[in-house]
Amino acid sequence: MKILKQGIITKVSGPLIIAKGMEEANMFDVVKVSDKNLIGEIIAMEGDKASIQVYEETSGVGPGEKVVQTGMPLSVELGPGMLTSIYDGIQRPLEKIYEQTGKNIERGIEVTSIDRDKKWTFKPKKNVGDTVTSGDVIGGVQETKIIECKIMVPIGIEGKIKEIKSGDFTVCETICVIEDKKGKSHEITMMQKWPVRKPRPVKQKLNPDDMLVTGQRTIDTFFPVVKGGTCAIPGAFGSGKTVIQHQLAKWADADIIIYVGCGERGNEMTEVLTEFPHLIDPRTKDSLMNRTVLIANTSDMPVAAREASIYTGITIAEFYRDMGYNVALMADSTSRWAEALREMSGRLEEMPGEEGYPAYLGSRIAEFYERAGKVQCLGCEERVGTLTVIGAVSPAGGDISEPVSQSSLRIVKVFWGLDASLAAKRHFPSINWLTSYSLYKEQAEKWEQENISDEFVRLKNKAMAILQEEAKLQEIVQLVGIDAVSTKDRVTLEVARLLREDYLAQDAFDDVDCYASSHKQERIMKIIFKFYEQMSRATEKGINVEDYIKLPYVSRIGKAKFIEESNVDIEFDDIEKSLITETDRIIEKGGQA
Ligand code: ADP
Repeated sequence: MKILKQGIITKVSGPLIIAKGMEEANMFDVVKVSDKNLIGEIIAMEGDKASIQVYEETSGVGPGEKVVQTGMPLSVELGPGMLTSIYDGIQRPLEKIYEQTGKNIERGIEVTSIDRDKKWTFKPKKNVGDTVTSGDVIGGVQETKIIECKIMVPIGIEGKIKEIKSGDFTVCETICVIEDKKGKSHEITMMQKWPVRKPRPVKQKLNPDDMLVTGQRTIDTFFPVVKGGTCAIPGAFGSGKTVIQHQLAKWADADIIIYVGCGERGNEMTEVLTEFPHLIDPRTKDSLMNRTVLIANTSDMPVAAREASIYTGITIAEFYRDMGYNVALMADSTSRWAEALREMSGRLEEMPGEEGYPAYLGSRIAEFYERAGKVQCLGCEERVGTLTVIGAVSPAGGDISEPVSQSSLRIVKVFWGLDASLAAKRHFPSINWLTSYSLYKEQAEKWEQENISDEFVRLKNKAMAILQEEAKLQEIVQLVGIDAVSTKDRVTLEVARLLREDYLAQDAFDDVDCYASSHKQERIMKIIFKFYEQMSRATEKGINVEDYIKLPYVSRIGKAKFIEESNVDIEFDDIEKSLITETDRIIEKGGQA
């Protein structure tokens, strides 16, 4: 049996432990601390001294106790059985921990990340004699009702298949034997391991260009994300961050959802843990967990575990991306992770950067987001997978000039600025249309031209111009009053109001309004512009703005978003028809509707 090297603790400072006698250890190796077997990771080395970040409470641990080296970097287990799981930051299934220890989680508890006893039906897709290389799919198992877990040749192995089985196996049983060029046999199981800090390799990074359709009008139309893109959402408490993330998890056309909750306040996480498993997948009408992995730090884990949860999450996400799936990862919130980095850096007595955060904050955040992308997966067959990363940021007081927001904004391509004042007015989603942006506009417009229409692209750009114009006009109105504004500008203000209230605002809790197809988005947009055209026509003929907006069809536009998808064409055609006839009539009657 391999004898594991040991070091001796010289200092304990909260989640940071210094140990000597560690000269043979490597950076980012996992160690087991004291007799309690607490999991830690080496984050700095100096001579024989290792600084260890411990992922469990260190109270009661003191100098003189041992640190056992494992000689392995912090890794995750990858294989069937991850979907539907709820893990802690170091990939321990919460349910299993609970079964073993009850409510008060004991420290140092060891549970396997993937069930060792469950049998999965493996269906081979390769034959004996086939030559395979790293990343090739040799078979698959139906992991949940809707997702097939593709079994891939582990990275670093290639050769000829000597044996391949079919039938029911556990994740540890050999299902295939590959003989490499040197004649060495490799036994392949359905589970593989991967160090979390190392991005999983790909054949090639591609330019992300496919829209991630979310059914959320503000996002799809004005601030789109592409599959493989990166996005930051700063969300002050109560600004609707959680609801947006739930909406995306439910409706975005991603195959797999990885939700990383590295929150601090217990209630934030409990909300996710209690609500997520009850969310229904609108496409399958079954539990959303069938295509979800939740990673949640329990409140009795120290801040350091937040870092592990971010890396665990993104590695699991990469694994499903490698199968060729569209994966969306949501991290809530990256600010809490940054705070953990700050705390550890302080304890390591490193030179602090801005606001006490370590100088490497920016590069850590960048490394995380850079693991997103659209890729050509490893393996002989052409397979494209995407990993979209959406990170929530929670700047204190909503002030995004702080380092975490700024470092995120430097790297992400989409920014949805949640606005507390919009939330206070109950305008949801509270994405501020004046401060938010998407650098994927070009890709999105190309997609829209192909899948919606050229006209829609023209109208949506015009709509944004009207919303910006409205902001300027409102300043004037505040100064001189509405009566001093020209009729033309009054019309612009009315159109902007419709755009805000009837297009941008979307009720996540309404059965119909929670999702709007691209077609419906186009129809609503068109009808608002028809209103613009007809209202301009009427006011030019001397009709009062107040009289015009009382026309019955105007209130029908307001309700249009609640029209079911199947009735959209019939009802919208009808509204358009009354729009013309009612306008004709009011002009004819000189203002009497
Ligand atoms: P946060 O996570 O930022 O603290 P939440 O996402 O919990 O905020 O939202 C707070 C409340 O705002 C919700 O309980 C809900 O009432 C309302 N809300 C947020 N987004 C929407 C939405 N899209 N549609 C309707 N109501 C919303």
